[in-house]
Amino acid sequence: MHANNESGAGDAAELRLAPGRHRAAVGCPWIFRGELLRHEVGAGSVVSVLDSTGRFVGRGIYSDQSQIAVRLMTTHRAEAVDAALAVRRLEEAVALRRRLYAGRDSVRLVNSEGDGLPGLVVDRYDTQLVVEVSSQTMAAWLPHLADALVRLMNPSAIVERGRLSVRAHEGLPQEDRVLVGNPASPAYVEEHGVTYGVDVTGGQKTGHFLDQYENRAAAARFAAGARVLDVFSHTGGFGLTALAAGAASVLAVDSDEGALEQARANAQRSGLADRFVTVAQNAFDWLHAASERGPQYEQVVLDPPAFTRSAKAVARALRGYREINLRALKLVVPGGTLVTSSCSYHVDRTQFLEMVGEAARDAHRRVRVLEERGAALDHPTHPLLPESRYLKCLILQVE
Ligand code: SAH
Repeated sequence: MHANNESGAGDAAELRLAPGRHRAAVGCPWIFRGELLRHEVGAGSVVSVLDSTGRFVGRGIYSDQSQIAVRLMTTHRAEAVDAALAVRRLEEAVALRRRLYAGRDSVRLVNSEGDGLPGLVVDRYDTQLVVEVSSQTMAAWLPHLADALVRLMNPSAIVERGRLSVRAHEGLPQEDRVLVGNPASPAYVEEHGVTYGVDVTGGQKTGHFLDQYENRAAAARFAAGARVLDVFSHTGGFGLTALAAGAASVLAVDSDEGALEQARANAQRSGLADRFVTVAQNAFDWLHAASERGPQYEQVVLDPPAFTRSAKAVARALRGYREINLRALKLVVPGGTLVTSSCSYHVDRTQFLEMVGEAARDAHRRVRVLEERGAALDHPTHPLLPESRYLKCLILQVE
């Protein structure tokens, strides 16, 4: 990989959009390779993008590998795109979280494009930070960003998690690294009265699913006295939040026995273990068998992983969602709630609602949409990048 271009406005290479209509012209920060006239620029360079008439569109960071060739970081002609801009954006991102969540010890500090830092995610777990980098330029700027994180957060450790498929598309190495300090797993964090151990070095993603933070509390409002089924539970997020809010019992299902072990430890340290049971099994198989037994839960939660990462596989993903939602609906006692999520960004809000409607029809259950929710407040998005609003979470009452 070439060294990045750290200069700004002055000597960024210029790329031109092909004639025609482009999302970038109305402010979308992504420019696909096929939209550009020529793009023989070094990996991770800073580039200025002009439209076909020569008008300045914006300046951003270039990838020589990804289909998303340019991620714009500014539409100001005079603004330099360099590591110093990235550090200023990082400072703004941290300041926002301090306002949103003063006193919380777990938070997403940086959410990529939503914070004007394409390809950078930073999660805080108590005194430790976990970083994910998925653009060539952020990879090149990482030493500056890590220095700034040390200055702003004074962390005991910064870990980079590198085994992401998006990194392979960028030609970035598939390896985890310690950037600062000595990581200690688990990190302990508290959310909604539950204490979680977070595996910062070996867990799924960055160790914990912060995007469902507010949704767990929203679901728990309907959980008092309920028998709760938490499917795709990971380390127990929805179920344990429900128990802390007065649920009668929770059965958590996940195929990852390591995550369930952590879930039981979380229940134990939160004083909720007596009402918490886990099953390590494929959720499709478990739901298939259980749904034959009829309604048994006042609340069922479905929080599956993304069923598709490509636009082509949407139909198949929707069949998967329909299958589990149909089974889950059959398990809800009349008057109870189904809390159902999708984090596939190729399945949009309308498709997700249609799928739920079809599952309800097939299950012969009438549902009311009580709440239509997205990712937590510390996951801001770009208005013209629907791809960044990947998480859908519906709270339904089931008759
Ligand atoms: N609800 C969790 C996050 C879920 S992430 C929370 O609030 O923190 C998705 C989970 O689905 C992961 O833990 C993963 O291990 C699990 N999973 C993936 N495929 C599965 C399958 N086929 N059956 C059961 N669990 C599965």
